[in-house]
Amino acid sequence: MSEWPNKPHEFMDGIVISVAIVGRDENGELVVTAGNNHFLQMMGGAHADNQAFPIPFDTLIPDYARPALREKLEACFTSRRAQEVEQAYDFHKDTRLSRLSLEPIRHANGGGAVVEILVTGFDMAPKMYLTHEGEVSASRYRAVVDSAYDAIVTIDQQHNITLFNRAAENLFGYTSAEVLGRPIETLLPEKFRANHSQHVRQFADSPLTNLRQSTPPRMDESNSVYGQHRDGSIIPVEIAISKIDVDGVTEFTAVVRDITDRARQMELLKKQAVTDALTGLPNRREFLEFVDKVLGTDDVLSVFILDIDFFKKINDSYGHDIGDEVLRVLAKVGMSITHGSNLFARWGGEEFVAALPGADVGLAHRFAEEVRERIEQQDFEHAWHLKPIPFTVSIGVVTRAEGERDVDALMKRADRALYRAKKLGRNRVEVG
Ligand code: GH3
Ligand code: MG
Ligand code: MG
Repeated sequence: MSEWPNKPHEFMDGIVISVAIVGRDENGELVVTAGNNHFLQMMGGAHADNQAFPIPFDTLIPDYARPALREKLEACFTSRRAQEVEQAYDFHKDTRLSRLSLEPIRHANGGGAVVEILVTGFDMAPKMYLTHEGEVSASRYRAVVDSAYDAIVTIDQQHNITLFNRAAENLFGYTSAEVLGRPIETLLPEKFRANHSQHVRQFADSPLTNLRQSTPPRMDESNSVYGQHRDGSIIPVEIAISKIDVDGVTEFTAVVRDITDRARQMELLKKQAVTDALTGLPNRREFLEFVDKVLGTDDVLSVFILDIDFFKKINDSYGHDIGDEVLRVLAKVGMSITHGSNLFARWGGEEFVAALPGADVGLAHRFAEEVRERIEQQDFEHAWHLKPIPFTVSIGVVTRAEGERDVDALMKRADRALYRAKKLGRNRVEVG
């Protein structure tokens, strides 16, 4: 241990390296009791003009350096042995690596215990850049690659994996060590493996990619690119691939983004676009598309359109929410006839439609009559909160004429049959 001179500040002013003294305050907290200008600049310079020592350790030392330095200081206090630590510090204009030596000291009258620690720092930056430039830029590159949000995978000319970053480890469930040197096909679902080599070859033959290009080319232009997790599950991904020529050898770098959430979202949106939100039934658009398809064939097809009788009164007497409940009950009854290729859909408001491929007019009439009766007799599970709500429906049925292809004309005919059912007293089925 060193003996500390009587006038530490004078001593320190003559030194160009960073120097500081660290002790403890009355609460046992670390405090910096002295420090030269260079040390203060290394700590961010905030206290450089105002050296109001002692300065609490936590206030002076920047966040990024605090834990490691604290650990070494504590070790120094406890063991009474000198410690060393290398740390990068952000100066005003650059970042430099400093080697800090921590030496336990005590005052002349301080007895045996370590009361303070002398910290001296040497700036190692010039040495580091001169001797390890390659290593430093490689480790910086590695740090950037590992902190990337997207999975990054590189392959060599034989299509074997040469780099696999942390995000790739998380995405695919393999550690880097497990996949390095293994073929890229390891990460692909079985059914894409065969075509993949050919894809890569084609891509390899294309003109060299400019790395600065703002939108990197996609090897597979389709949106459906999939990876395979170690556990066998399929992961929808988006891939951007860059090709680099390294000393005449072509390497590929793939940036792979997990789009599971987006794919799920797309599925949901697609479903929402064809589904009625209130009842969960297919909506008008879905129904028209379905009927249009059948009309494109020469198959037999009947449709019916159903309208709730005096629905306005239900809304007026029981409220709109109960009206909604009636619509949901009706949807359930309608769904009960959607076996086979039948489709029951919400046309809009309190009107519903059914498409019955293969059903001639007789069969279609029976389906419509079944729905009408079940509703009239409340032959369904009651969803009513208090007492049952009686209601009836009117239905217009039509069957496509031979060669009839126009979906609008077909629906207009059904509408006319419905109108007739209303006119003839409601709660009935009419064939048009
Ligand atoms: P009609 O027997 O002649 O069909 O009589 P109606 O009262 O059923 O006739 P109209 O078609 O004039 O009334 C339909 C009503 O349905 C009007 C509208 O407020 C109501 N409605 C439409 N969509 C909804 C809905 O989603 N929920 C509820 N609760 N009511 C709706
Ligand atoms: Mg109506
Ligand atoms: Mg109505």
